[in-house]
Amino acid sequence: MSRLVMKFGGTSVADLDKIANAAKKVVQEVGNGHDVIVIVSAMSGKTNELVNWVKETKEDYDQAEYDAVVSSGENITSGLMALRLQQMGVPARSWQGWQVPVQATGHHESARIDAIPTENLFKSFASGHKVAVIAGFQGVMHDGRIATLGRGGSDTTAVAFAAAVDAVRCDIYTDVDGIYTTDPRIETNARKLNKISFEEMLELASLGAKVLQTRSVELAMRYRVKLRVLSSFEEPSETAGTLVCSEEEIMESNVVSGIAYSRDEAKMTLVSVEDRPGTAAAIFGRLSEANVNVDMIIQNIAEDGRTDMTFSCPTDQVARAEKALLDAKTENHVDFVDLIADMNAAKVSAVGIGMRSQSGVAAKMFKTLSDEGINIKVIATSEIKISVLIDRKYMELAVQSLHHAFGLESA
Ligand code: ASP
Ligand code: MG
Repeated sequence: MSRLVMKFGGTSVADLDKIANAAKKVVQEVGNGHDVIVIVSAMSGKTNELVNWVKETKEDYDQAEYDAVVSSGENITSGLMALRLQQMGVPARSWQGWQVPVQATGHHESARIDAIPTENLFKSFASGHKVAVIAGFQGVMHDGRIATLGRGGSDTTAVAFAAAVDAVRCDIYTDVDGIYTTDPRIETNARKLNKISFEEMLELASLGAKVLQTRSVELAMRYRVKLRVLSSFEEPSETAGTLVCSEEEIMESNVVSGIAYSRDEAKMTLVSVEDRPGTAAAIFGRLSEANVNVDMIIQNIAEDGRTDMTFSCPTDQVARAEKALLDAKTENHVDFVDLIADMNAAKVSAVGIGMRSQSGVAAKMFKTLSDEGINIKVIATSEIKISVLIDRKYMELAVQSLHHAFGLESA
């Protein structure tokens, strides 16, 4: 029996009618002969509400209790989806993370999936169930406590299940009809891509194209899970959505495939750090322990044994970062004179596997920004991406002008 994973995001299960609409799609796939594993998010807005309740109750909250509260949105939608399917005549059963069990590890609030034993699920299919509805975003830690997988984590739940049960495909149903060359809310000429490589998607996901959680793409790439992103509000068709697949499956490839952005970035500068072996290790070790997602890093030329060190991280992690750096100062004896946080930055990136073989992409990017009078604060590059940190107020302008400069409006 072939198995298919179908994941429905928050907007696709936002109310009882939407759940019924999603359930219809599940029934169709059952009719196509699949055993279906449905992964659901919480109703849209629910998780935010739960997070706010936690923060209102206790600002420096216990992350294990955060997980206890915030994971609950998915319990509701998984039960309702199973009920709706039963009402439509399909034998379905809901599963919370701990019941599968989805074994998790790491930190509460951003746990990772360790393993998904499939025995219970397969027993359920063997006993006549056609659909297993899994509460996304949830895992159970080794100590038995509920964990959540980080915001957007039900994408990762979906891909992990697809890998665990060797699914024919993992369909991610959302409120957009695929992956675009950039955010259509910023650039109206943004175009839907029919296919995109795992690597490009990974860069786009981690750069803030909010359609898929980064970790889900990493997993899909590692386990070669065929991923399709499509709208739950459109009729099924052959060309629906965007297929995220391996590079070899893509014939045409532009030099640049997309422009990504991340609006809330901070630029942190450690002024006049003592330049000796172990300094960077201590600083970034502390930041990593504090769970700060450091992105760009720059170390300047040293003078008189001292240097400036700059890095970027999301603005909502700045308080954690500052504390970690003060700890590095007192406990690791990392000597620095000042710590400056520039909270008004945004990151804009051009991404494309074609960059590997094409030169001049960076030059074109910098020229385009300079023609618009946009100053670049920090630059970082990888094999298939160029990112710049700029003033947040120019972010939209930068995205639009780069989208045009790289000819992304036309196929
Ligand atoms: N409900 C969770 C969130 O909003 C997980 C998800 O939707 O993927 O982040
Ligand atoms: Mg989501």
